[in-house]
Amino acid sequence: MKIICVGRNYAEHARELNNAVEEEPVIFLKPQTALIPGSQPFFIPDFSNEVHFECELVVRINKVGKNIAPQFARRYYDEVTLGIDFTARDLQSKLKSKGLPWELAKGFDGSAPVGEMRKLTVLGKPVQDLHFELKVNGVSRQQGHTADMVFSVDRLIAFISQFYTLKIGDLIFTGTPAGVGPVKAGDELEGFLEGMPVLKVSVR
Ligand code: MG
Repeated sequence: MKIICVGRNYAEHARELNNAVEEEPVIFLKPQTALIPGSQPFFIPDFSNEVHFECELVVRINKVGKNIAPQFARRYYDEVTLGIDFTARDLQSKLKSKGLPWELAKGFDGSAPVGEMRKLTVLGKPVQDLHFELKVNGVSRQQGHTADMVFSVDRLIAFISQFYTLKIGDLIFTGTPAGVGPVKAGDELEGFLEGMPVLKVSVR
C-alpha cells in the first residue's frame, strides 16, 4: 500500500506557512514504514528539533482504479478516519529553501499515525461535510471542516489516479487546516471526527 498526501489543501493553512494556494493539488508520498497503526507512540526523530503535527482527514481506497473520472471517484472509498502528517518543519524549510524535494521531512518512520476507520454510511454525512478536531493535551489546536478543502476528495482521486494506480488499502491524507504547531515529548494528541474519538498518539 502507499500513503498519498496532499499539501496546501486548506487556504488558511497555506497562508499560515506563507505558501500560495495552488491551481493543482500538491502531492507527495510517504512510504509504508511511515505508518503507525493503532495506539503505538510516536518517537520524535533525532534529526529534527521542530516536528509539527498536521491533523488530516484520511480516506481509504477500497477498489483498484486508474484515470478515475471525478464523477465516479465516490465509488473508490467508503471509509475515512483522521491521521497526523508529522512534518520535520526545520528540515522541510531547509530543503524548500534550496528548491529540493522535501520527502525526507515528511516520510520518515512513524510520520503517519492513522486512526480507526469509520464508514461514511455510519457517519451519515457526505465526505465534504465532516468536522474534525485535534486536541493536544486536552486543548483544541486544530478544527477542520472538509467543506473548506481547496480540492475535494473526488477531485483529488481523479487527479492522483492519472499518475498513480490506486490500490485497495491505499491511504490519502487530504491536507491540514490551520493551527499546525510543534510537538514535544510527553504530548498526547487526540483526533475527533464528527465529535467521536478516532485517533490517539502519545509523543515520546
Ligand atoms: Mg499535511
